[in-house]
Amino acid sequence: LTILGLESSCDDTAAAVVRTAPDGAKVLSSIVFGQAELHAAYGGVVPEIAARAHAEKLDICVEQALDRAGIRLMDVDGIAVTAGPGLIGGVVSGVMCAKGLAAATGKPLYGVNHLAGHALTPRLTDDVAYPYLMLLVSGGHCQFLLVSGPDDFRRLGGTIDDAPGEAFDKIARLIGLPQPGGPAIEAAAQTGNPMRFAFPRPLLDRPGCDMSFSGLKTAVLRTRDSLIGDQGGLTRQDQADLAAGFQAAVVDVLAEKSARAFQAVAPVGSFCVAGGVAANQSIRAALEKVSANCGAGFIAPPLALCTDNAAMIAFAAAEQAGLRGPDDLTLAARPRWPLDRAQAPMLGSGK
Ligand code: ATP
Ligand code: FE
Repeated sequence: LTILGLESSCDDTAAAVVRTAPDGAKVLSSIVFGQAELHAAYGGVVPEIAARAHAEKLDICVEQALDRAGIRLMDVDGIAVTAGPGLIGGVVSGVMCAKGLAAATGKPLYGVNHLAGHALTPRLTDDVAYPYLMLLVSGGHCQFLLVSGPDDFRRLGGTIDDAPGEAFDKIARLIGLPQPGGPAIEAAAQTGNPMRFAFPRPLLDRPGCDMSFSGLKTAVLRTRDSLIGDQGGLTRQDQADLAAGFQAAVVDVLAEKSARAFQAVAPVGSFCVAGGVAANQSIRAALEKVSANCGAGFIAPPLALCTDNAAMIAFAAAEQAGLRGPDDLTLAARPRWPLDRAQAPMLGSGK
């Protein structure tokens, strides 16, 4: 199958062409237009600005994806689009664009869950068999999933408040490091002493795989405030120590909760991570160790396919196409769309 995918659920406008075959899948093209500079001045993604930028960029993004793949729209086998969850304006832009393409060409239309896209990515990049354990850890999400099929996800637990990426970004801002905060904190932490400040490891004393990062964020903020109160500002060493202490706490929480996620499922062959935070080398190393201890292979797809992209959406549609028919032109954009059916008994049609 050759599928054109569209993604516009957050602050990246993306289009991609993916071809699947019995011997594996291939990304023929993957175009991502980021919007970081549009939102930079506001300290976060502004939904209206995002939606407008998606609407402006989707056409050209699709054109470039087809061009780069060397394929005509008429020659794809289907059109996949993120139908949720996400910022509704952006999702609507993508869904309308995909419907237009489907209506104009008569090609099948597939509405895809954005989280399913992330969760299935390891099968796009590697030869991973179901079931596998997945940690999705990004700017907006943090959850453990047992992935047993293209449309069979069990949520084992996740953050009850902030996502770690969001915490990395906020803390970087608070201690005077640039955005995006993840890479900035990782770099600063290299020269920091993770033991200087004793930051909490929230929820480690509770069973299960739920996590919390907002108390940790507050603890870092309080320490920052008292340093500024005592000395009038932060030295470079303070920044590094705060960064190192915070990162060490996140590493500990993710590692311990990953071990618990393994305990919660029958033996699985692979542990996969996705999401921008998985770029962090300390986090990656800790998770790899947990994985090895649990006798599972560790898989972290290349970063470009870990963060938001449309190749994962095209691939998810191809994986799911064998299980369900295409959507019709009444396909709706869903701001909320839990992956786990057990948590979404109202989903109805099963699509
Ligand atoms: P989502 O995909 O959940 O909608 P998003 O688009 O914000 O959210 P991603 O693009 O997957 O998420 O990842 C971006 C996040 O990853 C940012 O919060 C960023 O700070 C974080 N991040 C990137 N690199 C690193 C790193 N080296 N260490 C820690 N965090 C990182
Ligand atoms: Fe995402």
